[in-house]
Amino acid sequence: MIPIAKPIIGEKEKSMVIEVLDSGIIASGSYVRKFEEKFSRYCNIREGIATTSGTSALCVALKSLGINSGDHVLTTPFSFIATGNSILYCNAKPVFADIDENTFNIDPDKIEEKLREDDKINTLLIVHLYGLPCNMSKIMKIVKEYQIYLVEDCAQAHGAEFRGKRVGSFGNISCFSFYPTKNMTTGEGGMILTNDKEIAENCRLYINHGMSERYKHETVGFNYRMTNIQAVIGLCQLEKLDKLNSKRIENASFLSENLSELEWLLTPIVPRGYKHVFNQYTIKVSDRNSFVRYLSKNEIGYGIYYPKTICNQPLYRKLNLYERFSVAERIAKMVVSLPVHPSLSTNDLDYICGKIKEFER
Ligand SMILES: *Cc1c(COP(=O)(O)O)cnc(C)c1O
Repeated sequence: MIPIAKPIIGEKEKSMVIEVLDSGIIASGSYVRKFEEKFSRYCNIREGIATTSGTSALCVALKSLGINSGDHVLTTPFSFIATGNSILYCNAKPVFADIDENTFNIDPDKIEEKLREDDKINTLLIVHLYGLPCNMSKIMKIVKEYQIYLVEDCAQAHGAEFRGKRVGSFGNISCFSFYPTKNMTTGEGGMILTNDKEIAENCRLYINHGMSERYKHETVGFNYRMTNIQAVIGLCQLEKLDKLNSKRIENASFLSENLSELEWLLTPIVPRGYKHVFNQYTIKVSDRNSFVRYLSKNEIGYGIYYPKTICNQPLYRKLNLYERFSVAERIAKMVVSLPVHPSLSTNDLDYICGKIKEFER
């Protein structure tokens, strides 16, 4: 079986974890500070706050902006559930704008439509889905014009760039995940980035019981602190991130060169000026059921990200948050992600392309 994802953990990660274990400082500590510094510097941002997951990072990021009941937060309906749930954690209302069918990302024209009809929206939460940046020139223009906060969900896009600028450096605040399927991992883990000192201070409060000094609690906080064990893995992974991403990009080019001749599927596009880091390599097919059955039979791992829009999930329907999106709902029925991770061998890639070419519809 060729898996859809596989983290690469080297000898350095293993020896550093043992070093941390032997030190006895196995919760938060100096390695966490160092990881925050190194990761924020990588994205050219001043403040980094390490957390327990991408989900807790998103939750704290929105809370740190003061988002609360009465606020509407605009986001994409086509993402992992955590993107939408982070808004619910703040008791705010998630509202959605449809996606672009070619990039899978939120459509700037649809953002403007929503902003014109809903003046309670004070925040835009974008997702650089599969590792492809959103159209940041259009989005920066919109957030300036409407004077709303911009939050970036970069959980799938570590190292991705729009016109030479890294994702995570556009918004008021941005969030990353280090889950094992992402471009770099700490097991579980997350990171918040911001250039705003006050927002960063709020984040540090929220991840540590709302505590400003020892046993002085200012707000209902959480325990969302990263550990030294995770941080030291993150430091090793960050050193390799560019290399791991290059391999993903190489693998994606190989897949596209071999698959683009097939008229029954559509390979992913990379617009000029965008650096796509291929957390996922996602194709569109019309008869998905028989295709994924064929992949399974041939021991090729795949993923369907995502089979339903967020607002079409039972939870969102119960909360009366369902909205119909013609593009996102159609795309949700067509997408299939193929293995593209850096552990793939040339043999694996040849095998995947060979089998897909032999698929008879
Ligand atoms: C993975 C992911 C998250 C959540 O990150 P976790 O670390 O798994 O909590 C949020 N948003 C997107 C788009 C993701 O892919």
